[in-house]
Amino acid sequence: MPTYSTEAIRNVVLLSHSGAGKTTISEAMLLAAGSISRLGKVESGTTVSDYEPEEAKRQISISLSILPVKWKDWKVNVIDCPGYADFIGECEAGIRVADGVAIVVCAVSGVEVGTELMWRRSEESGKPRVIFINKMDRENADFGRIVNELQEKLSKGVVPVQMPLGTHTNLKGVVDLIAWKAYSPEEVEIPDDVQEEAKSFREKLIEGLAEFDDELMMKYLDGEEISSEEIIDSLRRSVRNRDVVPVVVGSGLQNVGIPQCLDAICDYLPSPLDIGDIQVTNSQSGEQESVSPDSNASLAALVFKTGVDPYVGKITYLRVYSGTINSNSQVWNANKGQTERLGQLSTICGKTQEPISELVSGDIGCVSKLTVTSTGDTLCNQSQSMLLRAFELPKVAYSVAVYPKSKADVDKLSTALPRLLEEDSSLEMRRDVDTGEMLLAGLGDCHVEVAIDRLQRKFGVEVEARSPKVPYKETVSVETNAEYKHKKQTGGHGQYGHVLLRLEPLPRGTGFEFAEKVVGGAVPKNYIPAVEKGVTEGKQEGVLAGYPVVDVRVTLYDGSAHPVDSSEMSFKIAASHALNKGLTQGQPILLEPIAKLQVVVPDSFTGDVISDLNTKRARVLGMNPENGSQVIEVHVPQAEVMRYAIDLRSITQGRGSFVMEFSHYEEVPAHITQKIVEQKAAEKE
Ligand code: GDP
Repeated sequence: MPTYSTEAIRNVVLLSHSGAGKTTISEAMLLAAGSISRLGKVESGTTVSDYEPEEAKRQISISLSILPVKWKDWKVNVIDCPGYADFIGECEAGIRVADGVAIVVCAVSGVEVGTELMWRRSEESGKPRVIFINKMDRENADFGRIVNELQEKLSKGVVPVQMPLGTHTNLKGVVDLIAWKAYSPEEVEIPDDVQEEAKSFREKLIEGLAEFDDELMMKYLDGEEISSEEIIDSLRRSVRNRDVVPVVVGSGLQNVGIPQCLDAICDYLPSPLDIGDIQVTNSQSGEQESVSPDSNASLAALVFKTGVDPYVGKITYLRVYSGTINSNSQVWNANKGQTERLGQLSTICGKTQEPISELVSGDIGCVSKLTVTSTGDTLCNQSQSMLLRAFELPKVAYSVAVYPKSKADVDKLSTALPRLLEEDSSLEMRRDVDTGEMLLAGLGDCHVEVAIDRLQRKFGVEVEARSPKVPYKETVSVETNAEYKHKKQTGGHGQYGHVLLRLEPLPRGTGFEFAEKVVGGAVPKNYIPAVEKGVTEGKQEGVLAGYPVVDVRVTLYDGSAHPVDSSEMSFKIAASHALNKGLTQGQPILLEPIAKLQVVVPDSFTGDVISDLNTKRARVLGMNPENGSQVIEVHVPQAEVMRYAIDLRSITQGRGSFVMEFSHYEEVPAHITQKIVEQKAAEKE
């Protein structure tokens, strides 16, 4: 691939509800550009974009792919992102490095949950947009209806710049409302029978533009002829100001309207140069500065993705924001404060790479085998060290406990997990100190499932995923005293240890305390550490169901010793027996972790979400309306919301979101305690 100048580059991210056709459209774009000779199919897993086996298996995109499309004099880096909410972390990276957004909408389903979600994200990102109405070949495809829906639900600024020529099986091409030509696929005059409709759409387009363009408005009101060039100029400005969102149309599968869509991307969406200066943080002074998107300026490149290929190793994806990055050079990693040696740079097309000598400002490419660099880092020159803004990753919402299937898997897991996380920064792993389980957390069940598939395929580690154990605790509810005398006479040396312990309940969250109030040396000082040891070891397993004991103060207040037979061991044993006795007498109770859960749902789902939460023993703390949504805050036992990601999705059809964090421990209701105790006893057997 030749090197393109910065002005000739377009970085566009495709966003949509899952299944609207992004992958198919990217494939059709590659075909239009002559990079491939026939269309791959999502169903057969043969597209350039969805090349990972996990994607082919589920027929959804899981990670973003970069597809450079050589279109006329431009290079369009198409960033195909997943539409499924579990993989939104990838979209964040894609949106970050794009200069413009193309939202894909299905001509039958129109605005779906994912469309709204992606629209909102694109809105927040502040990037100019175009919309592609896809699947015009489908039965019940309805261009007019979808355009109205887009205007009502997304923005008044949505205006068609094309309309379809025919629909369903009769879809022949598209009408360009600006150039006033039809393409089916070769350029033809607009057929008479669609002239009327096309005129009315063109009228609306000009009206829409005039709202934001005084000059155009004057001409329009005076009834003057407005040229295509004037429309294009005005459109380009208002798209970049984000007042107007032009709509193009076609079918990815039938390869209709794709060249026109590429034209629209190149004509209306900005080049990296149009974006203007880039904000950076000077890593020495911490001051905000700006750098020019010029290829001759000082280097600033952002690492937005890390891939792991079983053969090639680590692949680092980067976008250059300023300056030029060269193959076989040295750069400075500003985040790590270390030099990084670059080997061969490549442009990427799905999974294939093409060597390139340099990447100019604005371009996207990759390099393999970097040592210190990870996702979110900035590469620059050491003499002008700066940090580009990275991107925020969504919080994890679903965890499983992973159990290696064999001994060999245990060994491999500890090296494979960090590499898996390197590749997907929206995954998290941690060892739960209470349950000892290794937890793998992601944005949803599907996300975690895919991660586990990858563990096996890429790293050869087989694990079983289980629902994480709930870290219950035990405590006493009344104060009690307990005495134990450990006395044994076996042959020569005997054993003697005698202690009296007081157990007092402490407020929730205090933890466990050991104190000593022995008078007159009844228990000699040198045995007290042994008593403490017996108690702290003993508290690891409570008497109810074997969970750790918390919120108790244990005081050693009396006892006795034998001049010959007493030993540290005897006192340790006595202490642990006395503790057990005390715990049993102290009316033990089970404590469970309570989570603070914040759920955000559209108003219409509030009732359903609350009644579901009621069945989960939740306590509502508050509800706050927030532009059309409700923010519901509850305290809820962690045991009840282990699968909340799945439950909330099914209640709200994917329109809700939540964040959860540990809050505190509370007593488990008696009837539930009994079940847990029985279950624990059964497990032991
Ligand atoms: P993505 O999830 O947005 O990447 O969507 P895909 O490209 O994977 O497409 C989802 C499904 O829609 C696949 O079965 C495609 O074959 C089908 N599809 C995509 N584009 C079109 C189209 O223009 N017309 C029709 N009829 N089907 C399409």
